[in-house]
Amino acid sequence: MAKFVCRDYGYDCDFVTEGTEEEVSAAFGKHSEEEHGIEYSKETLQKFMLDNNY
Ligand SMILES: [Zn+2]
Repeated sequence: MAKFVCRDYGYDCDFVTEGTEEEVSAAFGKHSEEEHGIEYSKETLQKFMLDNNY
């Protein structure tokens, strides 16, 4: 299971998502694009997940 906490990446935001790495990267990618106007590439999202060893 992976977990992504938006606040950990410097956002003033309470978004948290948990699931498989694939679910988390997809959910965060969508959230970031919609809420923060930043679109991350799949590669970048995967790197976030790798850095995030929960
Ligand atoms: Zn956020």
